Amino acid sequence: MQVLTPAQPTMNHHHPFAEPLAPLQVSIVVPIYNEEESIPHLYQRLTEELEQLAIAYEIIAIDDGSKDRSFALLHALAAADPRLRVVRFRRNFGQTAAFSAGFDRARGEYIITIDADLQNDPADIGRLLDKANEGYDVVSGWRENRQDPYWNRRLPSQIANRLISVATGVYLHDYGCSLKVYRTDVVSNIQLYGELHRFIPAIASWQGVAVTELPVNHYARQYGKSKYGISRIVRVLLDLITVRFLLSYATRPMQIFGLFGLLSILFGTLTGLYLVALKLFLNQSIGDRPLLLLAVVLVILGFQFLSMGLIGELVVRTYFETQGKPIYVVRQELNPPPARSEQE
Ligand code: UDP
Ligand code: MG
Repeated sequence: MQVLTPAQPTMNHHHPFAEPLAPLQVSIVVPIYNEEESIPHLYQRLTEELEQLAIAYEIIAIDDGSKDRSFALLHALAAADPRLRVVRFRRNFGQTAAFSAGFDRARGEYIITIDADLQNDPADIGRLLDKANEGYDVVSGWRENRQDPYWNRRLPSQIANRLISVATGVYLHDYGCSLKVYRTDVVSNIQLYGELHRFIPAIASWQGVAVTELPVNHYARQYGKSKYGISRIVRVLLDLITVRFLLSYATRPMQIFGLFGLLSILFGTLTGLYLVALKLFLNQSIGDRPLLLLAVVLVILGFQFLSMGLIGELVVRTYFETQGKPIYVVRQELNPPPARSEQE
């Protein structure tokens, strides 16, 4: 016969707030900025869909400093549903920061990002996961039939997608679609800044991951307003330059700056020598020639580039060394040695 003493905690395996026994399969990450009308609908549709798929999941909602009732609504929903986790930012930090907070907390094997405004369709999640299960690390949604205005949304986005594809070598029709599936270990390696979230597939490709896309539904915004204006175009362009640079030269800035520098010095010197020859041998006056200016500028510019390259090298070394960041990404290890901390 078993006797329970009062000191022994009683275990109740059916407690509704117990952690799920099965490992989480997916973490849904939802950035939210003033979406009070959409939240109840989104929550209901997500929950229905995920329960129907019969997968163990958590929803991580990030309230990105909303000024409406978004947080109050999330608070009420989370009180009744432990699968809903809510992170509340102190102020509006932007969609990229919201994603980043979600990624930091995700415990699922896969992360699914989705907008809160119901423009994406939770019903697509099953197909995206199936695709991921075929062996892809990133499955990007493609809003083939996008319901947004043409001139200030779809057209700039089409151009951006072409540019990003060519610049990064990762060809996707729709970088801007929020509905995407990532293997969690892929994004946990990526530090996000600025507006970089749309470049994750391209940045991830540096790690050598398999990226693909799948057409998904898209709807016009039903409630609330879009949070972005036309200025996003410029920011995306600048980010593209950053990403392109990071992808190709981040670990060796001297290779690109140094090359420009050397070329610039070379042409500057040749031009200068030509002018010197004119002066010495043909006794021409060179003081008023624009070419002289060019020669001087090229040489100065060349040394500027060289020093930029050297400074870049220093910055990169600091970056990798202070963060203990390896310059490689491991996929798998067989018979790995015990971790450093366990050795002693
Ligand atoms: N969002 C956010 N922080 C922001 C801007 C947007 O969390 O600073 C969220 C927003 O609530 C929505 C998603 O990001 O869930 C996409 O924003 P939006 O629908 O305004 O972008 P669009 O669809 O117009 O490109
Ligand atoms: Mg939207």
